[in-house]
Amino acid sequence: GTEAARCAGCGVNLQTGDASKLGYVPEQALARTPVICQRCFRIKNYNDAAGYTLDQDDFLRLLNHVGSTDSLVVNIVDLFDFEGSMIAGLPRFVGNNPIVLVVNKIDLLPKVTNYNRIVNWVQRQAKEAGLKVVEVVLCSAKKNMGFERVLQVLDSCRNGKDIYVVGATNVGKSTLINRLIRDYSDLDAELTTSQYPGTTLDLVRIPLDDGSYIIDTPGIVYKHRLTELVEKKDLQKLMPDKVIKPLVYQLNEKQSIFFGGFARFDFVQGERQSFTFYVSNAVPPHRTKLERADELYAEHKGELLAPPTREDLEQLPPLTKHAVRVPKGKQLDVSISGLGWVKVNGLEGADLAVHVPKGVKVAVRESLI
Ligand code: GDP
Repeated sequence: GTEAARCAGCGVNLQTGDASKLGYVPEQALARTPVICQRCFRIKNYNDAAGYTLDQDDFLRLLNHVGSTDSLVVNIVDLFDFEGSMIAGLPRFVGNNPIVLVVNKIDLLPKVTNYNRIVNWVQRQAKEAGLKVVEVVLCSAKKNMGFERVLQVLDSCRNGKDIYVVGATNVGKSTLINRLIRDYSDLDAELTTSQYPGTTLDLVRIPLDDGSYIIDTPGIVYKHRLTELVEKKDLQKLMPDKVIKPLVYQLNEKQSIFFGGFARFDFVQGERQSFTFYVSNAVPPHRTKLERADELYAEHKGELLAPPTREDLEQLPPLTKHAVRVPKGKQLDVSISGLGWVKVNGLEGADLAVHVPKGVKVAVRESLI
């Protein structure tokens, strides 16, 4: 039946007859004051629930039914931590459903960036990782870049299907979903990214105006990302919030650079050449001689080499060394999950060593920029 009352959240006329139509409120919820429609109720709960996290195994369990649905899967990854934020095993559980790869945080790249090049790069990386995607879209959820294109792609790929949104933590999933809700529903609500700790392990179904749903999934925690290992205050420092100013160093062999106390980069052997570091500007570099580096770290970690503080450093696993050989004639990046990456500019080849807290992923890849 139709009620005369209006929803206190969005102002729509309330009704108890059809759960798939706008303004629906379950009979028993009418007794509450204020009365809000089920959609507003879910969106409110969505904000309470956003920010909950799972590990990879929990995540796969929670989503193992997706393969038997007919839906669109939107995988959000963080361009600043591309390798670290890719979901292992994604193709296995989505079945035949199409995947759109949304690459977030492009606002961190210099303004002159050729975005087509980046899209091609992402396509190659995804393919190498065994991930078949119907489309790659670049955007910045925060700075509102590329969002029109995201909507266009979703519209053309989804045909009224539900959208599962998946991603690792801190890739910008909440920010993006809030944008999507605003565009896909007429709800004039002030939705902000969640400040609340998680309250549910579940999927959150957000009803859209056309009767389909956006299904938000808990963010996946990957312990191989430095951003997962640090204190909250350091997390804010590790994640850049504006265009990254690349740092270019001309180095001779046997020189080292520290990034705070988080990581150390050694140019072990090779011709003098330049290296470009893409790291948050809130993590200061410090150059030294390779032969001095161990001692410097032992004496000055947490002080000259900070963040993190000495105390917070004790909570991190100890630095462990990854030897990296860059062959002649190739332009490569060495990425450190959660910290950034270094581009090896020379084509002469180089022997490098990267020291990171044990467990943090170090990867060598074709240069992004
Ligand atoms: P979630 O954990 O994936 O839901 O991510 P959030 O939406 O909560 O965002 C995580 C962090 O990334 C926050 O500090 C956001 O401000 C930041 N963030 C989200 N989107 C962007 C973006 O497009 N660019 C930049 N630079 N930061 C972003």
